[in-house]
Amino acid sequence: MPPVPVRKPPRRTILIRRAVALAAIAAIFVLAIWLVTSGGSSAGDDDSAVASTEAGTTSTTEVVEEEPKVIGCLARNKGVEYRNGKRKKRVVALTFDDGPGPSTPGILDILNARKVRATFFVLGQMAQESPELLQRILDQGSEIGNHSWGHENDAPWESVSRTSELIEDLTGYRPCLYRPPYGTLSPTGLANAKELGMATILWDIDSLDWSNPGVDHIVSQAEAARNGSIILLHDAGRDRAETVVALPELIKKLRKRNFKFVTVTELLRFKPVHEGEEELLEKKKGKEDETGGSGAEGDNGAGGKGAGGKGAGGKGGGGKGGGKSKDDTGDGSGKS
Ligand SMILES: [Zn+2]
Repeated sequence: MPPVPVRKPPRRTILIRRAVALAAIAAIFVLAIWLVTSGGSSAGDDDSAVASTEAGTTSTTEVVEEEPKVIGCLARNKGVEYRNGKRKKRVVALTFDDGPGPSTPGILDILNARKVRATFFVLGQMAQESPELLQRILDQGSEIGNHSWGHENDAPWESVSRTSELIEDLTGYRPCLYRPPYGTLSPTGLANAKELGMATILWDIDSLDWSNPGVDHIVSQAEAARNGSIILLHDAGRDRAETVVALPELIKKLRKRNFKFVTVTELLRFKPVHEGEEELLEKKKGKEDETGGSGAEGDNGAGGKGAGGKGAGGKGGGGKGGGKSKDDTGDGSGKS
C-alpha cells in the first residue's frame, strides 16, 4: 500500500492559524491581567476586612485557640525570695502592684500596643471588683501574681490563700508568684507562699512611682535596670496618672538599650502549666519542696544570697529596709 501523502495546508490556512493562536494568547493575557487586578482588589478587601475584625476584637480569641491555655506555673526554690533573674540575658520584667484599679485598663492598652508582657501582683479585694481585668491581663500574655487580699503587712495565711483561690476561681489560672505587701519578708510569709506553691518575688529596681515623684523621675529610676532586673511599678493604690504617662517613655528607653520585656515567670524560667496538665499543677501543689534552694540557683537574686546561708530575714531587714519602707509609704497611704 502506498503511504498516504501528508497534505500540507495551504499557506493561507497557516497564516489564519497563526493569527488565531496570537489572538488566543492575547485574550489569555488580557484575562490574566483582569484576574490579577480584580482578584487582587477583592483579596485586598478580604484582608482589610479580616484586619479590621482582628483589630476590633483584639484577636484574643484566635490567640487563645491557637495555643493551649496557660492555667498556672511551677515555681522553683520557693523557700527564698527573688529580686532579679540571671544577669546574662538582656531581659527585664515590669511588675505592677496593688491592682487591678482604674488605671489598669490604660496600662494594659499601653502594654498591648507595644507588645509588652508584664506581671500584675493583684490584691484579692481589688480583683474581686474587676474580674474582667484579670482575664484581660492573661489574654494579653501578661501574668498574675498574688499580692495578698487586703495589703496586710506580713499578710497571714488566710489572706494569701484566699487570694490565690479567687484568682483561680475567676480565671482558671493558679499563680505561682507571691509579692508580700510592702516587700516585707518574714519566715512565716515565705513559708506560706511556699506551701501555696508560690515563690516570693521582690524587685531590684524601684521606680518610686508609689510616691508620684514626677514622670521624668520614674523613667530615670527605671533606666537603672540591668539584665534580669525586676522593676517595681504600681497600677493602683492611689492615683497612677504619672505611671501611665511614664510607661511608654520607659518602655521606649529600655528598648533602645535592647532590653526585651518578659514576665517574671519567664525571667526566672519557671515552667508554665497548660490546659491538660492539671495533674502537674496538683502534684506540685501537694508536693513538699525539700530543695530549699541550696545554691543551685546561684544565678538568681534569691539563690545568690542563698549561698550565704539563706539570710533572707536578715538581709531583708537590713539592706532592703529602705526600699521596703518606701514601698510601705506608697502602698500604705493608698490603702489605709
Ligand atoms: Zn503593694
